[in-house]
Amino acid sequence: MKYGWSGGSGLSGFFTPEDFLLTHPPLKEDRTSDVVVIGGGLSGLLCAYELLKGGRSVCLCTSHTVGNGASRYGAGILCGDSGADLTRLRQTKGRDTAVSWYRLSSAGVEQVEHIVAEIGSKCDFRRRDVFYYTADGNPDSLREEYRWRRHVGTPCRWLDRDACTEAFSFPCSGGILSENCGAELNLVRFCRDLEQWILLHGGEIFEGTRVERIEGGTDGYLCRSGSHAISSDFVVDARGGEALKRSPHRGQRVTVFSIVTEPVASFAGWQDRCILKSRDSCTYLRTTPDHRIVFSGAVSSVLSSDGSVGGLDLSAACRGKYRTLEEELREMFFGIPRIRREFGFCQTVILPRGGLPSFGRDPRWKGLFYLYPFGEAGIASAAVGASWIARMVADPSVKSPVYLEESSSG
Ligand SMILES: Cc1cc2nc3c(=O)[nH]c(=O)nc-3n(C[C@H](O)[C@H](O)[C@H](O)COP(=O)(O)OP(=O)(O)OC[C@H]3O[C@@H](n4cnc5c(N)ncnc54)[C@H](O)[C@@H]3O)c2cc1C
Repeated sequence: MKYGWSGGSGLSGFFTPEDFLLTHPPLKEDRTSDVVVIGGGLSGLLCAYELLKGGRSVCLCTSHTVGNGASRYGAGILCGDSGADLTRLRQTKGRDTAVSWYRLSSAGVEQVEHIVAEIGSKCDFRRRDVFYYTADGNPDSLREEYRWRRHVGTPCRWLDRDACTEAFSFPCSGGILSENCGAELNLVRFCRDLEQWILLHGGEIFEGTRVERIEGGTDGYLCRSGSHAISSDFVVDARGGEALKRSPHRGQRVTVFSIVTEPVASFAGWQDRCILKSRDSCTYLRTTPDHRIVFSGAVSSVLSSDGSVGGLDLSAACRGKYRTLEEELREMFFGIPRIRREFGFCQTVILPRGGLPSFGRDPRWKGLFYLYPFGEAGIASAAVGASWIARMVADPSVKSPVYLEESSSG
């Protein structure tokens, strides 16, 4: 099966079929642990990592394999911003929440960098500049965004039309170049390295173990899966999209399409191989260490054939989307010879209504925490959320730093 595999060293490839074979046994007996983490995507793994570092015993249960779910299809881009622009966030959430969340999510990139170094992850983490641009003839609204970013202390500069023409081959009337604020990584590899660290530090992982029910009481919690249960003092719900399926905060359901090219001979018309993010359309571009281009974000209402969250789909509709992305890429970078798509992938996701991720303590059950890092800053917010959850577990008086979305575990 070639799907999803970009060959090469195996480190810069996205994922191989072997990455998703079950390697840990399911829960086969009743257990006890300080904390049960539900979900083996990036959020669950980062929570387990932080909690183990804090001296807690941890059992992580996940319904399929580790690293599955949205974490399998992430493009591995860290933009160093909040995932939404500050101007828009300010309008919907108010100034204080916008600024606070923006700073927190920027710090998330540093946190990820730190974790990568600490666990010695070979996920190809690389710092990059981020260029946030518009092709709209009137870039004034983006200028306002620029002023806000400067105001909150982001090291960035404004590129006018002439500077853009010099730096990039695609049309752009203006943009914000944030220096060294972003990063790229191979998300599946990062998850796999976290998994190894967790095992080495005494964590237990149960794959193929779907937690069907959480029961709470004065003496802690019982997480039930089939005929077995784990009792614990704390539970972290990191079920990803599953958690939103029945949530009142559930918003739009969309499919995100991505393509990965074969290695290209040069990056003509692409200054410093920075991360590119368009304000006009929901698109992101990055390069890989083995000279490929990752183009992500043709959001559409086309759903996976089974309507599921996280399904793969090779139907004609999907192939059409991949072709469109490939053509768009060739137009943007006409100076790069022979841009050829090697593979494409897509995932259906449910977006939260408020557009922001959420993490915190359940209002009813004080030992139950949730971490739902959806959206464009998913990786950074998973890191921020996991470290706060570990602090909240250690100290009941600690509250989550920003009240992001009123949410509770469903
Ligand atoms: C196409 C796409 C591209 C993206 N690109 C980027 C990007 O470039 N940069 C970025 O920052 N973010 C990106 N994101 C977002 C980022 O990937 C996610 O925010 C992040 O991976 C979410 O991780 P998670 O662990 O919360 O959820 P998931 O990865 O979905 O993991 C949840 C896990 O919980 C398990 N589970 C569910 N229910 C149960 C249960 N009852 N019991 C046990 N286990 C259960 C699931 O099987 C799954 O393994 C992208 C997302 C998508 C879909």
